[in-house]
Amino acid sequence: MINPVKGTHDIMGKEANGYNDIVYVLSSVATLYGYKEMETPILEHTELFSRGTGSSSDIVRKEMYTFLDKGDRSLTLRPEFTAGIVRSLISNKLYADGNYPLKYFYHGPVFRYERPQTGRYRQFHQFGVEMFGEDSPYADAETIIMALHSLYALGFKNVVLKINSLGDEETRSAYKEALKAYFAKHIDDMCSDCHERLESNPLRILDCKVPSDHELALSAPKIADYMSENSKNRFATLCKILDENEIEYEVDSALVRGLDYYSEVVFEFHYASDKGEALGALGGGGHYGGLVKELGGPELCGVGYAFGIERLYSLLTELGIMNHEDPSIDVYIVPIGENCLQKAMTIALEVRSLGYLTEMPLSNKKVSAAFKAASKKGASVALTLGEEELANGQLKMKDMETGEEKVIDIVNIEHELDEHFGAHECCEGEECHCHEGHCSCHEE
Ligand code: AMP
Repeated sequence: MINPVKGTHDIMGKEANGYNDIVYVLSSVATLYGYKEMETPILEHTELFSRGTGSSSDIVRKEMYTFLDKGDRSLTLRPEFTAGIVRSLISNKLYADGNYPLKYFYHGPVFRYERPQTGRYRQFHQFGVEMFGEDSPYADAETIIMALHSLYALGFKNVVLKINSLGDEETRSAYKEALKAYFAKHIDDMCSDCHERLESNPLRILDCKVPSDHELALSAPKIADYMSENSKNRFATLCKILDENEIEYEVDSALVRGLDYYSEVVFEFHYASDKGEALGALGGGGHYGGLVKELGGPELCGVGYAFGIERLYSLLTELGIMNHEDPSIDVYIVPIGENCLQKAMTIALEVRSLGYLTEMPLSNKKVSAAFKAASKKGASVALTLGEEELANGQLKMKDMETGEEKVIDIVNIEHELDEHFGAHECCEGEECHCHEGHCSCHEE
């Protein structure tokens, strides 16, 4: 037996339905804010992430699935989406007509060589958005509000929004110097990763999960004391917009996010339950000033976020919100004998084209076995094709719930099925042509 790769998981049944529902809700909300879908390749040149995501990030330092292809190119399975979306923006010159802001949403698998644990996989799925070309706290605020709107649309109630500002270049370089001086005094007691972080990006130390390092980080200098006037004003404006829209948030000065490209505001969404906290953030993001230029594009800022679909699904299931069973089938076709199989296939196609979920045996089966399959799959109607009925252009239609059976003319299939599903599902006896759970009989 070949086992799945460690940290990966198969998605099927309720979970697959749940993922589709989540993506549907998140895409619908993003569409309301003017976002368009973008799909970029899972495979990118490694350089995209080492330059884009940043060489001091944990992701690039130790979590990427990188390999040489047969042409000796170093390729990487995307560990995050933003760098790829920016690459696409540049490759396709999407910025060329100056029609800003540009807004994209995306979803798909992401790969990180992390230690698998609850809520943490090596292949997981994200849904995210990126907005380009609007350097304003209003763009940041709209992005945060859209993320919250999305979480509420999914059914979450107690979402905790944490925000922080990493300031502009000027702020960050002054702050990094201060952190370097502070941590240098303690470095002998710190973990080996922090030794490296001290040189490459001391901001990362604030993120360290080693308890003693975390303890030291609590007393480290605070970025607010190094903030440039511009960044201070920008963050104050953002907070004011959130206040005016009655959005609750916590300012968390230790929030730095794991990727190197962020500047100004960064934010995360947590779910307020003990179990929820243990899973980590539902999602997070922030503003980035220099990434588009760094990757060879124009001076264009961006702001965006990504949610982890596994975490959303797991919490929504815990809350009893996600419980989407596979749909039961509407019609099962029962051919009697090999000769009727071919005609059954034609009728199945016709019935599907009417919008009914339809199945049939795909080899010659006993009638009793076909009926067994029909009830196992929860079919509402069985259509039996026998040679005698077929010769008369007829078939038998059985209501699988009541057991009632009648002979109908094949030319009347649409009418008969509409009548069955209309009366059965929506209108308690009234004749109508509604099906798939939607009743329009009483609409004006
Ligand atoms: P990031 O790209 O690191 O900002 O992550 C965004 C979101 O993706 C997180 O808030 C999580 O919900 C999710 N996520 C990140 N890493 C993992 C992982 N290893 N397994 C499952 N979900 C993850």
